[in-house]
Amino acid sequence: MIRFFNTLSGKLEPFKPIVPGEVKLYTCGPTVYDYAHIGNFRAYIFEDLLKRFLVFMGYRVIHVMNITDVDDKTIKGANAEKVKLQEYTKKYTDAFFEDIQKLYIAKADYYPRATDHIPDMVKMIKGLLQKGYAYKKDGSVYFSIAKFPNYGRLSKIDLKELKPGQRIESDEYEKESANDFALWKNKKEGEPFWETKVGPGRPGWHIECSAMSSKYLGQTFDIHCGGVDNIFPHHENEIAQSEAYSGKKFVNYWLHCHHLIVDGEKMSKSKGNFYTLRDLFNKNVDPYALRFILLSTHYRKMLNFTFEALEQASSSLKRIKDFLYELKNRPFEEGQNKDISRLIEEMNQIFIGGLGDDLNISVALTALFEMIRKVNILISQGKVYRKDAEKLISSILSLDNVLAVLPEEKEETLPSEAMKKIEEREKARAEKNYELADRIRKELLKQGVILEDTKDGVRWKVVKRKE
Ligand SMILES: [Zn+2]
Repeated sequence: MIRFFNTLSGKLEPFKPIVPGEVKLYTCGPTVYDYAHIGNFRAYIFEDLLKRFLVFMGYRVIHVMNITDVDDKTIKGANAEKVKLQEYTKKYTDAFFEDIQKLYIAKADYYPRATDHIPDMVKMIKGLLQKGYAYKKDGSVYFSIAKFPNYGRLSKIDLKELKPGQRIESDEYEKESANDFALWKNKKEGEPFWETKVGPGRPGWHIECSAMSSKYLGQTFDIHCGGVDNIFPHHENEIAQSEAYSGKKFVNYWLHCHHLIVDGEKMSKSKGNFYTLRDLFNKNVDPYALRFILLSTHYRKMLNFTFEALEQASSSLKRIKDFLYELKNRPFEEGQNKDISRLIEEMNQIFIGGLGDDLNISVALTALFEMIRKVNILISQGKVYRKDAEKLISSILSLDNVLAVLPEEKEETLPSEAMKKIEEREKARAEKNYELADRIRKELLKQGVILEDTKDGVRWKVVKRKE
């Protein structure tokens, strides 16, 4: 059984998709006005873990992530740089796709862009006007929150605080200023606009997600994710617009991940603790370690990013990699040990059970490292055989379909001459003939073979040379 904490009910609920075996998932995507920072990536990695786990459990996942390429922030950014909106957002959209690839985030099935879906938004706004949930004022269209009695259910907002009839212009605002919000913003000097049936202007941010999610996933779908920042007003408004328009429940499960902080403090540019992915890669941070750190704290807990924690993540990953290396390269005797199959089975159950329990990653990872620890003891006692090693390798690689923290396993073959050279070099090193050893190392490097000396002996890696 899989269960998730649903922000809407405030409870853990068993997960039951609308269509058995199929999950329709919508995750709020980037607003492409700047490079995404690691706080954004925390959310994208949590969503990736969720999706990979559901796929691992046999579900067909249909995943939509929007690209917000017109809103208050993108317009402001484009105007500040005196470039066209499209030109401005293209740069950050391209950067976003580069970034998610670097973190091994599985691609969504659809990445709809807001500017490609203006007619879908206008259709919804027209419908809301006809049904009396929306009204026009000075060329803009607003959603009347007083007309939607369920307003505030997701964010648990105090409805007594609401001031019906007052309006808010900006896309983002605090709970205290919950008012009628803009679905459509009247054409303004210095802003891009579209000529439409609701007048010239441009959409508000919230209607974009309502229109694009229902277009690709239907009016009711299974899971909607985002960061806790999105709960109010963005997701609250999405529910209001969508349900008022369709008369149906919008989303069954709302999952939100908590903030990321850096060195115990809120990330901010002025404090110098603000990191984009690019900033970290410029510091030679290993993408796998970064991915590992972003996924290894439970999504509903605050994640404290530190460089120390990043090092710990690297060494945790190294334990898995060393283990795999050992299993692949040690000359195990023929045969098998039933205890190993039992250990794998136990670990799998706890790993899957942990993730099935509202994505409890800590339980899952502890089970994996505990198995590695136990098997290492058995290896040192000579109680692991060839069949066991094969089973262990395939079980870890299978779980990596969920975690995606191990470098892609490629078949590596080393020509026998290179093998001979490695042996020669080992001999030279043993005889303290470092000059010769170094010469051989360089020769091999020219052939694309990288050597790494470890306390357990030399390791090699073949790199494909660029043509
Ligand atoms: Zn959204």
